[in-house]
Amino acid sequence: MRVKSGVQLSGTQFEMRDACLCYGAEMRSLGGQPEITSGSEGAHGDGSYHFYGYALDFSIKGLTLGEQRSIVASMRIFLSSFYDVVLEDDHIHVEFDVTRAKLAGYKKEF
Ligand SMILES: [Zn+2]
Repeated sequence: MRVKSGVQLSGTQFEMRDACLCYGAEMRSLGGQPEITSGSEGAHGDGSYHFYGYALDFSIKGLTLGEQRSIVASMRIFLSSFYDVVLEDDHIHVEFDVTRAKLAGYKKEF
């Protein structure tokens, strides 16, 4: 998978692996080029999971709106309910909601 120039991936948490795998497979199946467009760098909102390695943004370049929605729908099915998958104007934002996971008794595996 491509990583956009300037994207900071150090500190990305293990939980984002499934999001990458799912997005990559879906994007390739539509003939698109999978690319991570944001990690922990950049301007995100205060307290954003991006800063803690629990959120990534993915490219939707070259996809129709229907295809974008299709990827989002597939990711919501594939990923557990601890993940939020949001279709933004020019990317898909995926985060692992640590608070929700902890409340549900999720134990981090190493
Ligand atoms: Zn994001």
